[in-house]
Parts: sequence; C-alpha cells; structure tokens
Amino acid sequence: MAVRAEEDHIGAERADADRTAIVIGGGLAGMLAVTALLGHVDTITVVERDRYPAGHTFRKGVPQARHLHILLSGGQRALDALLPGTVAALTGAGARSMYLPRDLLTRTATGWERRFDERRHPTLCMTRPVLDVVVREHALRAAAGSATRVDVLEATEAIGLTGDAQRVTGVRVRSRNGERGDPAERVLSAALVVDASGRGSRAPQWYAELGRTAPHEETVDAGLAYATRMYRPSDPAGAPDAGVNIPGWPECPRGGAYLPVEDGKWLLTLSGVRGHHPPTDAAEFTEFSATIGDPYVRELLAHAEPISPVHGFRDTANRRRHFERSGAVPEGFLVLGDANCTFNPVYGQGMSVAALSALAVRRTLDADGGLRPGTAAEAQRAVARASDPAWVAAVGADRPYASGDDTKASLGERLTTWYFDRLTARAAIDPIVGATFRDVFCLTAPPSRLAAPRIVLRTVFLPRRPGLPTPPTVIESV
Ligand SMILES: Cc1cc2nc3c(=O)[nH]c(=O)nc-3n(C[C@H](O)[C@H](O)[C@H](O)COP(=O)(O)OP(=O)(O)OC[C@H]3O[C@@H](n4cnc5c(N)ncnc54)[C@H](O)[C@@H]3O)c2cc1C
Repeated sequence: MAVRAEEDHIGAERADADRTAIVIGGGLAGMLAVTALLGHVDTITVVERDRYPAGHTFRKGVPQARHLHILLSGGQRALDALLPGTVAALTGAGARSMYLPRDLLTRTATGWERRFDERRHPTLCMTRPVLDVVVREHALRAAAGSATRVDVLEATEAIGLTGDAQRVTGVRVRSRNGERGDPAERVLSAALVVDASGRGSRAPQWYAELGRTAPHEETVDAGLAYATRMYRPSDPAGAPDAGVNIPGWPECPRGGAYLPVEDGKWLLTLSGVRGHHPPTDAAEFTEFSATIGDPYVRELLAHAEPISPVHGFRDTANRRRHFERSGAVPEGFLVLGDANCTFNPVYGQGMSVAALSALAVRRTLDADGGLRPGTAAEAQRAVARASDPAWVAAVGADRPYASGDDTKASLGERLTTWYFDRLTARAAIDPIVGATFRDVFCLTAPPSRLAAPRIVLRTVFLPRRPGLPTPPTVIESV
C-alpha cells in the first residue's frame, strides 16, 4: 500500500481497470469518497486541480472556504463513522464545539431564542482549511492502513469523461503544472469514476460529449449573497461566551452570524437576499452589520479588530441534479457532494450531506460485497436518500424568497415553508418543539418528525409568544 502525491507513475491506460476507481476532486467529498471505497477497490486515483498548500491555507479550488462553515451534529456522526477520531482531531486542531442552542445565541423574527442546556447537538465551527486538512490527513492515513492503494494527482484537472452513453470508462485529464511543452491531455481508465468536483462540476457538459442527456436539474434560488470578514476581539467584551446567529426573515431579509473559530479568531458572515446583498467594501460592510435584525453583532464589532479583507460569494442556490433517477447515470459513474446537490449555505448543511452521502455509498458497497454491475446506480440512489432531508428543509425554508421561474414547489415543500415560520417562533421558546426542530435541522432526524402530533399541536395551537427581548445570558436547564 502506498499513498503518493505525485503523478509520474500513472500509465495512460490501466490493464487492471476492473478494480480501479478515479475520484475527480480532492476536496471534502472527494476524500470522503476515497474513504467509502477503501477495501472495495485495489487502487484509487484522486485527480485534484489544485496543488495543496502547506498548513491551513485557503486555496483557489474552494472559494467558499473564506466563509463561515459549521459542521452539524448529523455530519459529525457520519464523519466519525467513516473516519473514527476525526471530530476529536478537529477540536484538537482548534475547531470550536458549541451546543445548540446553549452556545449559539439566535435571534428569530419574534425575538431571541432561550438558551436551553440541551446538549444534544454539538456543532463545530472552524475555518474551512482546518477541516479540509484534518479530513484529508485522516482519509490518507486510513488509506495507508488499508488494502487499497491511493494516488493523489495534484495540479491535475479533469476535462472530460471517456466511454459512451452506456458506460464511463475513465477520465481525460491535463496537468496544470504550467511547464512548457507539458503534454496536453491523457486518459486515466477505471471501473468507477466518482465526480466530487464541487459546485462547478461539469458533469452535465461531459454527459453531452458522451451522447447522453444531462440529468434533470432542480433549482430553488433565494438569491442570497454572503460577505465575510475575520476579526480578533480586542477586549473581553468582544468575545461573548456564545456565538451569535441572526438569520434574516421576510420582513428583514438581511442576516449575520458571528462565530468563534480557531486561535481566538471570529468570523462574521453577513448575508442578504436580492436587493439586500452585503457589500465587500470594508466600511460599507461594517455599516451593513448595523442593518440586520438586531444591533448586537454591531455592538460586538466595536470590541474587535478586523484581520482580513471582506470576501463575497453569490452562487448560493439550492441546486440538485437527479442522477439517481432511473437511467440517469451511465454504468461506472457516481456523483457526490456539491457536484450532486448544493444547498443555500445559510442552513450549514452541505458538508454534512457530503459525509452522510459518503457513508451511504460505503454501506451500499458493503451490502453488495464490493463493486458489481449496478452498484454505482444503487449507491447513487442511496446518496439521494441521504440528501433528501436537507433538501426538503432548505427548499421549504427558501420558497418565500425564490424567484418565480424556479421549479414548482411540491406539496411537501409548501407545507414545510408554511410550517417553518411557526416552528422557528415556537422552537425559540419551547424546549419540546425546539429539540425536534434542532434534531431535523442538524440532520439527525427526518423532517417527518416535525409533523409528529405533539409538535403540530404545540406549534399550531399554543398561543404565539415572542422570544426574549435581548440576547440571553442565562442558561436554562431542561
Ligand atoms: C458561502 C458558503 C458557505 C457554506 N457554509 C457551509 C456551512 O456552514 N456548513 C456546511 O456544511 N456547508 C457549507 N457550505 C457548503 C460546503 O462548502 C460544500 O457543501 C462542500 O464544500 C462540498 O464539498 P465538495 O468536496 O463537494 O466540494 P468542494 O469543497 O468545493 O471541493 C471540490 C474540489 O474539487 C476540485 N476540482 C474542481 N473541479 C475539478 C476538476 N475539473 N478536476 C479536478 N479537481 C477539480 C477543487 O479544486 C476542490 O478541491 C457552504 C457553501 C458556501 C458557498
């Protein structure tokens, strides 16, 4: 077994293509795909466009990494099931663990949430490079202890698929080393190709080159934009004992989340839907922070030094490609992570869904006893099932903001939207409704729990009461 980070030993064609896999994208979903495949194939070649930088540094291939990233408890469980010890390693690397709702002060449309000492949902907050590096190290360490050989080809870009409409047989790649006379293109062959190339995946275009129709795509776009800046509190008043979350709501569609990350730093992400996009100019960014639903974050900023420029991000639509539908994937092809489904980031679900999806792939391979004809399609259906709860929650909550030309809302989605308004108000003050609400949004329980009789009764029939008028300092036992 060897884990190698260079490409000089990969031939243009593999003779033993029947037990080989290629993973396009060496980011989070790519590394988790590697983990899912360990022991089920002889070799895995990871094709990564970037060269990994040293240390916990941002890189070009993951532009969203500049923005606040939380890992929900559902994602943590999946991550630890795939790679035991990774969550502890993340906190060891400085990630901050916060119980919801105790350690995250949340302002809803009706007031501040009560700080129940519930301890069901630890939520991790860290800069994205820390997460990616820790996961990559654990994945490659697991590979080193397995029967599968993993080769990582850095600075190598996938530019197309090989095969035909029925079967994918490999990937066309080109080196991005930039050397003069660099051979333009070559082909890597494999029994299974996994697309984990993120939200910019070109799978639909690659399908066309194979003579296939692109999979059905659904988009629900709230038109949200992000802007993020890093801070270091300059005195204790700037570092409260909890993070702060003030998501927007229809009457005030501007929000902000101010959370601690590693090394005593804090990240402030401001957001707003169409017509309310946060600016990336530093002074205007600070001014915008005073216009979100509560002045608390702006007050905290008076006690903190900005230590980064402001970074923006606009492509935040919920977008799902239905590769799981009958006949939608050729044999030998599987799509994971953002390449399969992206979510409005304000719900913090994408990375957790990537982990839950990789776990679903591993379970499918375990059940099938390895890679057999039809296993990839079965795994793709398992990925869809793993993505469903987050999709239903995100598009249901986003419907009020989505533009008219988006796909028509299903009854389930409309119900979720109608219910969401009442739930957020009730969950803020009610420990029973709040616990179920958090179970669902942390991806540890299916959305159907929100329709359980006692949750419906409490949500719909108990009088609607406001939340707390100011950020709570008292932690309430439950
Ligand atoms: C602003 C923002 C904030 C977010 N916040 C959260 C959050 O709080 N919590 C959460 O869970 N999720 C969040 N997400 C979602 C999260 O970022 C993604 O779900 C996650 O990164 C998906 O992982 P991935 O590996 O599929 O894609 P990526 O992490 O984007 O990785 C894709 C990899 O593929 C490589 N690549 C791309 N194209 C090619 C190619 N042609 N050839 C070779 N390599 C290629 C890239 O270099 C990269 O390494 C957020 C997203 C955004 C946009």
